[in-house]
Amino acid sequence: MTTALPDVLPASALDAAEEADVVVIGFGIAGGCAALEAARAGARVVLLEKAATYGGTSAMSGGHFYLGGGTAVQRATGHEDSAEEMYQYLLAVSQDPEPEKIRAFCDDSVEHFDWIEALGFEFERSYFPGKAVIQPNTEGLMFTGNEKVHPYRDQAVPAPRGHKVPVPGDTGGTQMVMDLLAKRAEEAGVEVRYETGATNLVVEEGKVVGVAWKRFTETGVLRAKAVVIAAGGFVMNPDMVAENTPALGSKLFVLGNTYDDGLGLRLGASAGAQLRFMDEPFITAPFYPPSQLVTGIVVNKDGQRFVAEDSYHARTSYYVMHQPEQKAYLIVDSAHIEHPSMPLCPFIDGWESVDEMESALEIPAGALQATLTSYNENAKAKQDPDFHKHPDWIEPQDQGPWGAYDLSLGKALYAGFTLGGMRTSVDGEVEREDGSVIEGLYAAGACAANIAQDGKGYASGTQLAEGSYFGRRAGRHAASRPGN
Ligand SMILES: Cc1cc2nc3c(=O)[nH]c(=O)nc-3n(C[C@H](O)[C@H](O)[C@H](O)COP(=O)(O)OP(=O)(O)OC[C@H]3O[C@@H](n4cnc5c(N)ncnc54)[C@H](O)[C@@H]3O)c2cc1C
Repeated sequence: MTTALPDVLPASALDAAEEADVVVIGFGIAGGCAALEAARAGARVVLLEKAATYGGTSAMSGGHFYLGGGTAVQRATGHEDSAEEMYQYLLAVSQDPEPEKIRAFCDDSVEHFDWIEALGFEFERSYFPGKAVIQPNTEGLMFTGNEKVHPYRDQAVPAPRGHKVPVPGDTGGTQMVMDLLAKRAEEAGVEVRYETGATNLVVEEGKVVGVAWKRFTETGVLRAKAVVIAAGGFVMNPDMVAENTPALGSKLFVLGNTYDDGLGLRLGASAGAQLRFMDEPFITAPFYPPSQLVTGIVVNKDGQRFVAEDSYHARTSYYVMHQPEQKAYLIVDSAHIEHPSMPLCPFIDGWESVDEMESALEIPAGALQATLTSYNENAKAKQDPDFHKHPDWIEPQDQGPWGAYDLSLGKALYAGFTLGGMRTSVDGEVEREDGSVIEGLYAAGACAANIAQDGKGYASGTQLAEGSYFGRRAGRHAASRPGN
């Protein structure tokens, strides 16, 4: 698949072109929110969608929105939170934090929660207390990040912020939100053109002034005072993945839709956009639930621990990717073992002694024994001086026999998507490497680099929340631009 940048078309391509105020590329959560807000601000909006229907990867997703600062669900379930604590947390987990964006995202989070509900549904006012990948039923809230994990729990007061749409299951829940978004967009007068893919940007003196499209064999060009690119990520483009984030190339399961082919990113780059975090994947193979597996220890091929096991699953996986040969094992004793509800990390075997386990896993003799002895000694006092696992999850693993699960890349069923995107301002304006704005060009969702920057700091729900929030901002700002 191509990694090439599409050609940029000259302004002369717009001779006799039809006109819109704002053209949005892609009808996922980000593009839908951008188009709706632009139309509500009075703009004539054309939304180009390459597929035969709206939804994209958003409609496939589980339905976590990362929201906080005192939402109605947080208040109803007795969880105190403030925009300031949310800000401090997101600042702490970011690889290269953009304080202005994080501040806006947190300050406006309650308003954004209300806006999402006003599409026409309510998050359930209920809380799921366990350690899980997603709420098992329709519970509205749970912890979906590293808020209670060292060192973050000392940097911001932990609060659960993973709001799940009231649909059971771990995939497809967001279809319901997309259906509502499509209805609201139609009411607001957004003109949606399906099976119509954007192919090139039209640029005049560095400014984006239009976009070319293709529908089967038909082609055309639209003049616009602003173009919002919200066309998803690049996990479905094997060559872009190999070039930028090779670990995702050895994944066994890709999370995305056919059109996550990186064309949106390449369209942006063709007009001069800087692309950021292109080498960072979200990659994960959760070993929990059941929660009690979190009491086990995770070691590398040298028998050494390398992460607090109570970390959010993508954080644990991030560190697995950074271990020698990307090999890792979860070791659990017989008092705590219970097979994972979703067997993504295969059970290897059980052994009567640690010696036997070391030799079966080809861990240097004595290394795992030393790690377990030291861990168990501290665990008796509910302490973990090495990785500061939360005391709630510290229990000695000293009751043989012991079992091991394989977390190694190539053995565990890792799934993932890309996190890289265009550099943008707080209003979604696309920026060049020198920080200057490309006039007339906006990006949102998986096409833009915002809050979610790497797997180490990722919290479930940041993609849908930032895609919708910064999509809305991009739509409003685009609608306010003067004409060409
Ligand atoms: C199984 C699964 C579960 C997930 N769960 C969660 C979760 O619970 N919470 C969370 O925050 N994130 C989750 N994610 C990630 C999240 O779904 C995505 O990051 C997010 O939906 C991206 O939204 P988007 O609007 O940027 O892109 P998309 O929703 O993919 O929308 C992009 C649209 O652009 C269209 N398009 C592409 N190219 C063109 C073109 N050239 N011209 C016109 N149209 C084009 C596509 O067809 C698509 O409709 C999950 C992902 C998966 C797959």
